[in-house]
Amino acid sequence: MLDVDSRRLFTPSFRRELGAIAARAAALDEDGSFPTEDVARLAAAGTLAAPFARPADSGVAPSCDDLMESLRAIGHASLPLGRLFEGHVNAAALIRRYGTLPQRESAWRQACEGALFGIWNTEGTNGVRLIRRGDRLELAGAKIFASGAGHVACPLITARDEAGDLFIVLPRLDESPRADLSAWQAHGMRASASGTFSFDGLRVEPEDIIGGAGDYHRQPHFSAGAWRFCAVQLGGIERLVEEARSFLRRLKREDDPHQRARMGEALIAAQTASLWVERAARLAEDEETQESTQAAEAAIAYVNLARSAVERCGLDVLEHVQRSIGLAAFQRTNPIEKLSRDLATYLRQPAPDRALCEGAAYGLRQDAPLRELWR
Ligand SMILES: Cc1cc2nc3c(=O)[nH]c(=O)nc-3n(C[C@H](O)[C@H](O)[C@H](O)COP(=O)(O)OP(=O)(O)OC[C@H]3O[C@@H](n4cnc5c(N)ncnc54)[C@H](O)[C@@H]3O)c2cc1C
Repeated sequence: MLDVDSRRLFTPSFRRELGAIAARAAALDEDGSFPTEDVARLAAAGTLAAPFARPADSGVAPSCDDLMESLRAIGHASLPLGRLFEGHVNAAALIRRYGTLPQRESAWRQACEGALFGIWNTEGTNGVRLIRRGDRLELAGAKIFASGAGHVACPLITARDEAGDLFIVLPRLDESPRADLSAWQAHGMRASASGTFSFDGLRVEPEDIIGGAGDYHRQPHFSAGAWRFCAVQLGGIERLVEEARSFLRRLKREDDPHQRARMGEALIAAQTASLWVERAARLAEDEETQESTQAAEAAIAYVNLARSAVERCGLDVLEHVQRSIGLAAFQRTNPIEKLSRDLATYLRQPAPDRALCEGAAYGLRQDAPLRELWR
């Protein structure tokens, strides 16, 4: 068992890994790759165990700031690893919230032993179903865009039963080759191994079901939890600006007024994203948000708007950086090329129009002055 401070993520040993993770990222930029060594190093640093919160410590999870800085730092080092870690953290949050004590203890133990978790919800026409066969339950169907397919030891998935209710299931995987990465030929985020995974025929015991029907979409956690992918995106945005800054300085182009103006715009965009993410994280994780319907509604709206704001900042930074660096930003020898592809791909998140419109609808319903909306 690891001897780590189970309540802290942003530890010195975690921070020590980040440089090596960033250095390994370019070599992993290939179809079918996966950051196996990075995950093992994070496990050894206690980073995989901390989000599960040792049940014996009354399940105290990492603080909001600790989690936010960790997601941001990991996204800065490697966006594909950041995506995988975000999935792991999201799975931990669901198990902490809805799992029974034995389920929480078992998950914490597995994470301590180095198991990477994930949360796979996205599906195509052959979505995952929970089917009753006599007196037992089994799974049928597949998930798509499942990060770490074939590598994640403990994927948390959503599955519908015959009545149409949605459950969270932590299936016990067998040895069958269930992952198919052939369709994951993405522009960026190659090393996230976001492929298809079939669950056909896997038996489900009652203790493999986490929580009750509808818990996966339970608010405010479902929508407000989106701040976590925004934090990873923020890390990538900041890294891109830093890479552009180094490039301009190396070429002694930093005194050019056009370059300065674009760098100014890029810095504004990165800082805007940072302000949105920090506020979104605090509102989402605030105790009042968990306790009051009104506060929950406000936090959901804020995170929905933050998603659009961060996406806009990311797209702006991509444009400014590409225009400042020119064709060199599109050469595979330049780290900006890979980073730009990873960020552009990872900025694609579910239902962005709906998130913006729901945030807007909240604002339209309020009578309070704007300065009081998110106090
Ligand atoms: C690197 C990476 C890793 C991922 N890993 C995972 C994972 O581990 N687990 C998982 O569950 N998912 C994962 N996903 C999938 C992710 O959660 C989203 O499902 C996916 O990114 C959404 O992509 P999309 O742009 O096609 O979204 P969409 O929601 O399809 O949006 C595309 C466009 O269509 C619009 N749109 C959406 N719905 C409608 C509609 N009904 N009518 C009209 N327009 C509509 C949107 O507003 C947007 O303009 C991953 C995605 C990426 C990029």
